[in-house]
Parts: sequence; structure tokens; C-alpha cells
Amino acid sequence: MIKLPEDVKNIIGILEANGYEAFAVGGCVRDTLLFRMPEDWDVTTSAKPEEVKALFSHTIDTGIQHGTVTVMMGKNGYEVTTYRIDGEYEDGRHPKDVTFTANLVEDLKRRDFTINAMAYNERVGLVDEFDGVKDLENKVIRCVGNPRERFKEDALRMLRAVRFAAQLGFTIEEETKEAIRELAPTLAKVSKERIAVELVKTIVSDHPEEIRIAYELGLTKVFMPEFDVAMETVQNNHHHKYTVGEHSIVTMQNIRPDKNLRLVMLLHDLAKPVVLTTDDRGFDHFVGHTQAGADMARGILKRLKFDNATIDYVYRMIRHHDDRPPMDNKALVRRRISQIGLEHMPAMIEIKRADILGQSEYEFESKMGYVDELEKAYKEVIENNHCVNKRDLSVNGSDLIAMGMKPGEEIGVVLDLLFEIVLNDPRLNDREKLLERANKLATPFI
Ligand code: ATP
Ligand code: MG
Repeated sequence: MIKLPEDVKNIIGILEANGYEAFAVGGCVRDTLLFRMPEDWDVTTSAKPEEVKALFSHTIDTGIQHGTVTVMMGKNGYEVTTYRIDGEYEDGRHPKDVTFTANLVEDLKRRDFTINAMAYNERVGLVDEFDGVKDLENKVIRCVGNPRERFKEDALRMLRAVRFAAQLGFTIEEETKEAIRELAPTLAKVSKERIAVELVKTIVSDHPEEIRIAYELGLTKVFMPEFDVAMETVQNNHHHKYTVGEHSIVTMQNIRPDKNLRLVMLLHDLAKPVVLTTDDRGFDHFVGHTQAGADMARGILKRLKFDNATIDYVYRMIRHHDDRPPMDNKALVRRRISQIGLEHMPAMIEIKRADILGQSEYEFESKMGYVDELEKAYKEVIENNHCVNKRDLSVNGSDLIAMGMKPGEEIGVVLDLLFEIVLNDPRLNDREKLLERANKLATPFI
């Protein structure tokens, strides 16, 4: 019924040959039944961690205190976890202690959702004590047991419910939803790192719009209240037909499922409620929302403990997402490209298209036409090898020192001026011509 990979068959076979039970379990069973490619294959077994380690030549103690050993089969690792009952959850964060058990069903009972609580091996077939198959068929996310109790044990499960709904295109069962509504504030007890993992999985899924459910159930309010404000901010002007939050959602749906790009779209306009002004005719304006938005995004991502590379990228793209240099001023276009960074231009063009796709039909064609022009201008820079990066100037600091300038700040000033000259006229980035200019600029400093 389920086709296990050879490695998994071998691991289960070795455990069984030594008198233990062993099953593929959790996400891999769920995904296989859905004809989806599992991310990884996990095994659950009656063998204790030390017993697992004794049977395989290469193992890693991944989470030995929770009963998890990674078994290496060639280059591939498989997490093998001893059947366990989770002890009481101290603070909604981690189980205080785990108890090993000899009973598979006890292990399945501790798992979050019915669709994640199935086990399979070739000897026994599918073990589905909690009607996971039925819920797969009905496309439903339902807790194993009483949802309130399960969310009290581990509040992250509430966000995981949203994440699985987004990944699988499922709906959250009514009683499970009610329990989330009630217990959403307890998500505050969960570590920011765990929250960030589920947030990213939600927005890079096929259904990033499910973030809306997280909002409706009161979850985003706990870790990203800025998003709630955006969901409640209408934009009364010609360019928009959605609230700020809905606009953000639609733009996520219109960009490929890349973590950084989806984060940019999610966060790009969140400062609009802060800078909003309404003119005499009743139209809303959002002057300064790009800088304020970049700052706000940085704050949110820092709070959620994202790495600096992600934070810097998202900051930069939000800062420039609304740059619109006039196309008849190619020097200014090159200047903007240099600020955004040449290597970031393809992504910026994707971001701009997604942004427009989340707006009203007003001037749609001309807005899209503008982005096409920008893309052309970018390609021209590439094809002509125009210098839009100070590092690519044909004259450098050593040249200035060779002319007699002293090392120091002035070198930077002269290079900045040379870069301005080249941005204005790329033909001047010719070594002979630029040395001539450099000489003139350097003279006062010598
Ligand atoms: P994927 O790996 O595709 O993200 P998954 O279902 O494998 O999805 P994991 O987070 O890898 O999810 O967890 C593996 C299994 O462990 C789950 O299928 C579930 O049975 C169980 N599990 C994970 N986290 C929890 C939790 N917080 N509470 C209860 N059970 C959990
Ligand atoms: Mg997994």
C-alpha cells in the first residue's frame, strides 16, 4: 500500500529481526498517502535509544534525551525515535520529561493531528487509531484527542494547524478552531524561533493566504500585531481595492514560493497604517511608507530571531520596493539600480510585478509597462557592462595614491565623485579617460 524507501525498509527490518517493533510514522505516512513527496522519513520503534545505537554502525545522538537517534544509511540520515509518552508540559514550551513505552498507540496519541498520527510497516500495514485517513479524505486538520488539552500542552500546535492547512489546502476542524480562538494568547509562551519556523512554512506553502486564518483566530496578534493592524486598515485611493493586509496576502500569492520573497511581500506595506494621511478629497496617502516599512520589517524579523542575512535582504527590498525612477533619465535609473544592487534587480522586478497584481485595475497596464521598461533598462546595464557598483570603477584607491594622494578619507570622497561621473555617463568608465578625471579631482588634495 505504501512504498517504503529501501533504507527505511532496511532500518525497520533490522529492528524487527532483533525482536523490536518499528514503523514509518508521522509526516512521511501522511504525505505518501496524499501522493506528496515526504520531506524526510521518520521511524518510531519499541527499541530504546541505546538498543538502536547497538544495531547500527553509524548513528548520531540527535535528541537522545527525547529518544531520538539519527541512523545513517550511507549519506542519508533517518530519525529513529523510541515510542514515548510526553510528560507534562511545564510551561507550554517543552515536556518536562518523556517516558518510553512499549505501546505504539501510546506514541501515536501524543502526536498533534490525526493526519500526523499514522504509522506503517509492511508486516502490520497501516496503523490508524484516530481516523487519520478519514481526515485526509475530508481534508481536515483535527487534533488527536481534546484540542484544548493538546494546545495547553504545547501552544505551538495552534500555529502548526494553520501551517498544515496552508501546506495541504485543508481546513481546520471546527472544534479545533474554537480551541485555538480561545487559547491563542498562550502562543506567547512559545519561543520565537519555533514560531518563525511555522510562519515561514505557512507563507512558502501553496496557500500563503492561510495566514488570514492565523489572523482570524488571534494568532498573528501574538507575534506580529502589526499584521493585524494592516488587516484592519482600508486604503481609500485609486490604486487599491484591498486593505493593507489583504493586499499583502494577494502579493504573496503572486510571487514564487521563495522564503525571502514571500517575507518581503508579507511585510512590505505594514508601515502604511503608521504613515497614513487623508487629503481633503478623502483619499489616503502613505508618504514615507517604504523607509518606515523597511524599519518595521527589520524590527519584526529581529523580534522573531531571523538571521541577519534575511533581515538585511528584506530591509533592502522593502526600502526600494516603490522606487520609480523616470525612464527618460537613464542616469537616475542607473543610480537607483546601484542602490538596489545589480544582483537584486531580477528579484526586485518580481516584487514590483507582484505588488501591482495586488492593486486595483487602475492604470494596471501602464504600471506593468513601467516595470517592463525597468527590466529592459536593467538588461541594458548588463549587456553593456555599465558600471553601477563602485567596486567596478576602472580607477581605484591605489591609483589615487600613486598620483600622490595620502591614504585617508579624501580617497573615498574622490572615488565617490568618480562614481557619480560614471553613473551619469558610463562611457567615462574607461581607464584612460577616468584617470584624467581622477587627476583633476585629486589635485586639490595633493
Ligand atoms: P514536515 O516535516 O513536512 O514539516 P512533519 O509532519 O514531518 O512535517 P515535523 O515537525 O517534522 O512535521 O514532525 C514530525 C512528526 O512529529 C509530526 O508528523 C507529528 O506526528 C509529530 N510532532 C511534531 N511536532 C509536534 C508537536 N509540537 N506536538 C505533537 N506532535 C508533534
Ligand atoms: Mg518531518
